[in-house]
Amino acid sequence: MASVEQAPAAEQNGTGIPVENPATGQTITTVPTLSADEVKALVARARAAQPAWDAIGFEERGRVLRRAQKWVTDNADRIIETIVSETGKTYEDAQLAEIMYAAAAFGFWAKEAPKFLADEPMKSANPLVKGKRLVVRYAPVGVVGVIGPWNFPLTNSFGDCIPALAAGNAVILKPSEVTPLTSLLMAEGLRACGLPDGVFQVATGDGATGAALIDEVDFIMFTGSTKTGRKVMERAARTLTPVGLELGGKDPMIVLADADLERAANAAAYYSMNNGGQVCISIERVYVEAPVYDQFVAKVTDKVRALRQGRSSGPGSVDVGAVTFPPQLDIIDAHVRDAVDKGARVLTGGRAAAGPGMFYEPTVLVDVDHTMSCMTEETFGPTLPIMKVGDAEEALRLANDSPYGLQASVWTKDTRRGEALARRVEAGAVCVNDAQVNYTALELPMGGWKTSGLGTRHGAAGIRKYTKQQTLLVTRLAGKRDPHMFPYSRRVTGLIGKLTKLLYGRGKRD
Ligand code: NAD
Repeated sequence: MASVEQAPAAEQNGTGIPVENPATGQTITTVPTLSADEVKALVARARAAQPAWDAIGFEERGRVLRRAQKWVTDNADRIIETIVSETGKTYEDAQLAEIMYAAAAFGFWAKEAPKFLADEPMKSANPLVKGKRLVVRYAPVGVVGVIGPWNFPLTNSFGDCIPALAAGNAVILKPSEVTPLTSLLMAEGLRACGLPDGVFQVATGDGATGAALIDEVDFIMFTGSTKTGRKVMERAARTLTPVGLELGGKDPMIVLADADLERAANAAAYYSMNNGGQVCISIERVYVEAPVYDQFVAKVTDKVRALRQGRSSGPGSVDVGAVTFPPQLDIIDAHVRDAVDKGARVLTGGRAAAGPGMFYEPTVLVDVDHTMSCMTEETFGPTLPIMKVGDAEEALRLANDSPYGLQASVWTKDTRRGEALARRVEAGAVCVNDAQVNYTALELPMGGWKTSGLGTRHGAAGIRKYTKQQTLLVTRLAGKRDPHMFPYSRRVTGLIGKLTKLLYGRGKRD
């Protein structure tokens, strides 16, 4: 709806945002920057549409979501083309991490929403509520605002809208100003699948549009940088609007001496360079035990050096795509320069590639340490700094030496030891002999510790956050007056004292 209804406004007031193809440098189109008043109007429309969407129930909503699942698979090529054009990523990065995710997510939430949000009958041991019906229910919050980043316009922007819709909310999505086109296409798709008008709308615009959305909605689901996440939470505090925050990361990979080095090296190359390294759960730094360090570095460097980079012209054409967001190129280069200035060596890559388009060469850095930004700040690009460590304890200490705590991985053939180490890593998700694929298991909660986020997506909590819990207590059979009611008497007060002792004052204590 935004593409049709808002485009003329952009031309009129001249506040349109040009959307560029980062792999070619060409402008694809212009989208409007919505003002605070325009956001207010969208929210009013959403509020009017939401009660009927809630009232039709899970089954009817599920029907729309299942149609959308089919729409995504039927229109996969068109969606991939849109994602690739506005992000500059490869066909495969759009296919595996976006189309497959969205298709699975529509089906998952259609099926699981009625279970996760079913009324929960409760029992209580407290004598005051004996015989009464106790129920916890989940009511939609109303209008959910979703603010997304540019690295996965379908998965990370639109993906969070699906459970919010399944729960019976109306949703307004503010996509990144860098990559708004996929969201507009999804709005078109949902309309074609029978989603009622006003239930899902796209508010294109920049940070100010996002801030305006926070003021108006009942829940804000934000995915983006930690820096912006702080601003979002501050803003939401003004209206006491609850927030979910999925923020930045600096994921460590710990390679122990007994690891399957070939698998670890393949994984290091892939999970640091896929999507051009622009994945919140990218492997951003590696710690390798000394005995296998040289071998691991040689393997990884060979694999990274062999990667084909460029504009994707279809399946299998390139391995690593463009840098989507222009300022990111400077951040990546600054981290590499800082490392080199402090004594690091570049084994492959190490500079921006020649244009057209924005590319940074897949880069392996060694002789790195924690004085360098490449080991401590989120790089969000195709770089892999590898550090030698004396033992697993040193690796763990360095892995935890970070303000971030999104995800991590441990590599060892001794999976018991690996799991024990994983439990000591300060991160919301830790894989042993794997990385990133946990994200595809929608049953598993996904969320950051420390400054990597607040709350989780996926699993039961990933939809319950879009609801308000309501407790129901229903008294069916009861006398005219319960003993604890007025007037107070010595006798009843004494009995309650005895009852408290009887219930809670006996039993063994150490
Ligand atoms: P960003 O924080 O710059 O922007 C994210 C969104 O916030 C954009 O839509 C932007 O317009 C909006 N925004 C900016 N200022 C705002 C304000 N004051 N109020 C409201 N909204 C505002 O992030 P980005 O550069 O688009 O994305 C990259 C970051 O996202 C990385 O740090 C990455 O790790 C993170 N990320 C995290 C996850 C996760 O699941 N944890 C997933 C993907 C990306």
